[in-house]
Amino acid sequence: MANYEFFKFVNQNFNRASGYLSIEKGLLSQIKACNSTYHIAFPIKRDDGTVEVIHGWRSAHSSHKSPTKGGIRYAMQVNEDEVNALAALMTYKCAIVSVPFGGAKGGVKIDRSKYSNSEIERITRRYTFELIKKNFIGPGVDVPAPDYGTGEQEMVWILDTYRSMVDSLDSDGCVTGKPIHQSGISGRTSATGRGVYFGLREACSMKKEMDKLGFTTGLEGKKVIVQGLGNVGYYAAYFLREAGALITGIAELHGGVYDEKGINIVKLKEHIRETGSISGYPDGKYIDDSGKLIEMNCDILIPAALENQITEENAPRIKAKIIGEAANGPLSDQGHKIIKERPSLIIPDIYLNAGGVTVSYFEWIKNLSHIRFGRMDRRYEENAMERLLEAIEDLTGTKFSENDLKRLGKGPEEWDIVDSGLEDTMVMAYNMMYEAREQHKTDLRTAAYITAIKKIALSYQQLGIFP
Ligand code: GLU
Repeated sequence: MANYEFFKFVNQNFNRASGYLSIEKGLLSQIKACNSTYHIAFPIKRDDGTVEVIHGWRSAHSSHKSPTKGGIRYAMQVNEDEVNALAALMTYKCAIVSVPFGGAKGGVKIDRSKYSNSEIERITRRYTFELIKKNFIGPGVDVPAPDYGTGEQEMVWILDTYRSMVDSLDSDGCVTGKPIHQSGISGRTSATGRGVYFGLREACSMKKEMDKLGFTTGLEGKKVIVQGLGNVGYYAAYFLREAGALITGIAELHGGVYDEKGINIVKLKEHIRETGSISGYPDGKYIDDSGKLIEMNCDILIPAALENQITEENAPRIKAKIIGEAANGPLSDQGHKIIKERPSLIIPDIYLNAGGVTVSYFEWIKNLSHIRFGRMDRRYEENAMERLLEAIEDLTGTKFSENDLKRLGKGPEEWDIVDSGLEDTMVMAYNMMYEAREQHKTDLRTAAYITAIKKIALSYQQLGIFP
């Protein structure tokens, strides 16, 4: 992992896709380049009084649109190459789902399990302070969000630090993924996982594709193994299970659970919360080697942890025919090639995990407009529906039941609006990517890059800089 050249891998995909397009070379180089990277080293005082120097980065990959957008991760493997690669993926991701942002990413090189809550708070606030100082954060500049190792709590610290230093009406839009009572939005926490579900549902609804794999259409009964039960993996598994899929395996960092009959994901998460570990879970079988678990029999494999997990080493043993890339870059180039050689469907990260940034976009719009979605029209819609139902009753001479009236007459809450926006985004983007695949006779990953590059190129051309 240490020597993994992630940005090079992203650019290999980019180059492969641009071979299908006739876009001027200079413009392609501009799209590909990481526009700015900021490396920070700052001291923090540990609880025991010692001082430690922490390294952090923030990269804005493409400023063809403002602001730039992307998460901040806390992990030991964070380095400049990784942050640049992840920022580039954000650019392509945003383009695919038509989110009008450039791509960015941040990272802090820490093992968060080794720090107390107040140490993490100090690190987060200092990191934010450094970004503010160099104008690397702001609702119209660059807007962070959660990623691996961060969540709502870190986002609130970022918000609070920003608010205390910048006096602006739009400060709340400086970061997304905030808790609902701190200018967050309903549905952001589950958004990436829910997007993964919508993407897989769309893929599995296509008869022609399922026939090629020897599968029936639909998610029902499909066996799924998920690698990583963080926020993304958990919600992806949760919604897939709700749709009738069988979650037969969950692989965590140091071991996992396998159960042919299907794992109750809520119960398993509760067990991990209570005991701090996946081992000792009463149902199914404990597998101490997570690497072996992802190679076990299943229809869909969802790597939802980190990059470079399926490589030339283990790809030959992966049995799943559908790979849903919930993580960023979980398949190496070689890993992809090996799986592609057999009947398979690899749904690429830059499409499949774009639900998070899509709902982040909705949150940002909410923050800038200072109003919750549905606030102005929910009651109006309910009243209009009530009048319509009454008119139907008068015309037909029949009465709706209390239950029907309640169900049909309900106006949309914020969550309903966010969820339908997310569903629409994921379905439309899948079809756009799929069409590009059919047109260019290539794989979905290349098609996704083709779709993204075309959109970004157009945007640069319209700026008038490139021919
Ligand atoms: N970290 C997430 C991602 O990789 C979300 C980014 C965002 O919401 O800005 O897509």
